Amino acid sequence: MNKGQPIGIVAGDSRPDTFVFSVNPSYIPPLYDYVYVELEEVPPGEAEPRKVKVIAQIRSIRRVGIGLSPEHPWPVLKNLSMPHGNDTIVAVAKVLGYKWKERIYYPRRAPPVGSWVYLADDRLLEDFYSVEEERRLWIGYLVSRPTVKAYLDVEGLKRHMAIIAATGAGKTWTSIVLIEELLKKGATVLVLDPHGEYVAIKKSVARLGSEYVNRVIVLKGRKDQEGDILYRVSVVDLSEDELATIAGVPSRATRIRAVIGGAKKVATQLAKLLGKPALAGLKGIRNVIGCAIDAVEIAKSQSRKLEDYTVQFLRQLGLMLGLGDKSEELKMVAADEVFQRGVRRLWLALRKDTEPGYDAIRYIEELRKIGVYGVKQIRVEEFLRPGTVTIFNLAGLRAEVQDHLVYNILTRVFMARVRYIRGLKGETYPYPVIIVMEEAHRFIPPKTVKQTRTREIATVIASEGRKFGVHLIAITQRPSRVDQDVLSQLQSQIVLRIVNPRDQDAVRDAGEQLSQDLLENLPGLNTGEAVVVGPVVPAPIMVRVRDRVLDYSGTDLVLVKEWMQSFEAEKLAKEYAIEAALKLSRILGGTFDTNNLDEALTKLIGKRVKMPTIHEALLILAREHVWASYDELNGVVTGEAGTVEVKVVLQDGLIQCSTCGQKVCAHAVAVVLRAVLDDLLSTPRTEGLWEWWYNDTTRNIED
Ligand SMILES: [Zn+2]
Repeated sequence: MNKGQPIGIVAGDSRPDTFVFSVNPSYIPPLYDYVYVELEEVPPGEAEPRKVKVIAQIRSIRRVGIGLSPEHPWPVLKNLSMPHGNDTIVAVAKVLGYKWKERIYYPRRAPPVGSWVYLADDRLLEDFYSVEEERRLWIGYLVSRPTVKAYLDVEGLKRHMAIIAATGAGKTWTSIVLIEELLKKGATVLVLDPHGEYVAIKKSVARLGSEYVNRVIVLKGRKDQEGDILYRVSVVDLSEDELATIAGVPSRATRIRAVIGGAKKVATQLAKLLGKPALAGLKGIRNVIGCAIDAVEIAKSQSRKLEDYTVQFLRQLGLMLGLGDKSEELKMVAADEVFQRGVRRLWLALRKDTEPGYDAIRYIEELRKIGVYGVKQIRVEEFLRPGTVTIFNLAGLRAEVQDHLVYNILTRVFMARVRYIRGLKGETYPYPVIIVMEEAHRFIPPKTVKQTRTREIATVIASEGRKFGVHLIAITQRPSRVDQDVLSQLQSQIVLRIVNPRDQDAVRDAGEQLSQDLLENLPGLNTGEAVVVGPVVPAPIMVRVRDRVLDYSGTDLVLVKEWMQSFEAEKLAKEYAIEAALKLSRILGGTFDTNNLDEALTKLIGKRVKMPTIHEALLILAREHVWASYDELNGVVTGEAGTVEVKVVLQDGLIQCSTCGQKVCAHAVAVVLRAVLDDLLSTPRTEGLWEWWYNDTTRNIED
């Protein structure tokens, strides 16, 4: 078509924010293409009306046959022989605004009916969406206009951002493109990576240029991962309760928690009084528990007094530390008040039986295997560097540990920035930091769904981060499962395709920038196409995300990597199995281990559960986001495994799975296991209590 020629004419409904136009059939623009109308407007700060170009985007387009309806009989339609191109084409355009002195404004007037509608050329669009060169992040091209580059304004990231998309719609891809651009700008980026997907960046970073080779750090969240350095948390800095929770001890296992708490107190004091910091670590704590168990066993044969126990305990400690039991050091330790309190706690928890002591050792040993929890914490400067992206690999860790490590690192980074800005003493970091949080729904779920430590610090960063130069990019496929207080603070959003209506609602509720009409377009987006709103863009924009240069493991199927991941998932699945067996033993009253987990679950659910189904369910737990809630009154567990919705009536064996129907499927078992692992099934059902009472009384009668 000729440049400058109108492609349509405003006809019918016309308003300041949207207008309908009839399209010249000789050139029909595609959906989402850009047009403009000329309008007399009074821009802010001006006295007189000016002629401005109001840019609009085509949001719907349809062809109608006037006088011709699909109800006409086929022989009639067939013989009409209408030439193509004689149909009426009606388009609806959404007004984006007009640019006046480097700013974008919404017009206050509706385009008059009869106004010409022109195709917006590339230069007009480039100017409309332009971002200053040193501030721009190139993320792709306009949808329907692959010749116009689309940019984000890095300054807009100060007010945080969310990347939201259904699985497979391209959210990690988008985040990789952003990371590339941030690297080029010299930003400090910290990626929280629960699946280890970003680790592949390291191997491909040379493609950006040789100067980038040393600008990726892989921070290991587990000592047996591949990576550059191991993250380290000091056990001394953890509270006794925190340690027990991270170790995976259920909140109701009060005696095991008491053992761990007492042993930690004793170990910490020993380290302090004897000047041997290593004694305060997990190994030290385990050894203290060992001494406590031995002391109880020996003291039991003599008396059950605390004094006798203390004598035995000191003797055991002396043996462990290589100190004579009459040594000055041991006397000094024995006289310490905090130490005595720890000893007393151990005695109270173990004097009846030592089983909780052995359980506590098992929990501590499991935690030791991770290798992160030691006596020294890592320094911020070891893992954050200017112009460098740090990938915190959290793959293969239990949810409690992931949550704690993310909480810990975010607190460290945030406090380092607060100290720097306020000139306070202590560890500082001199540059702003951008946090990329994958799977944000894992770490910051609504309070009503799950309590996490990360939510506390994420809430602080979302509201105060801007002042201190800590900026959050949260990525999720389940915005309805992210705390609304945090989500609403993420003022920019990149929204790719989302299909779940609940998630669409959550996106709309979170930020008013995303208008209803943009939301309605989301299901129609292709993979890699996104709507961007908020301070990162001059006006809402639809982009096709550009090709990325860097790799991530979600894209190319590298077999060895796949196997590594499956290996890690298997490892995690095994940990879950052990934990579930332990907890099921308590709930059902029996001794279950990983070999008869099927019996335990059959008993709990009330329908035969087979081992292969359990194994599959454990892998779902290890790989996907599974949540559960429990209606105590009716004994109903509801939840989701990934995107599959599940409802199970315990003991009645009634199952409803949105994918598999009513049979015992891995989704249902995964959700029930989640409920078990999260200690939701603490109270037995009323019938259970009666059963217990009945059995107990009959047993007494038989006696
Ligand atoms: Zn299912």
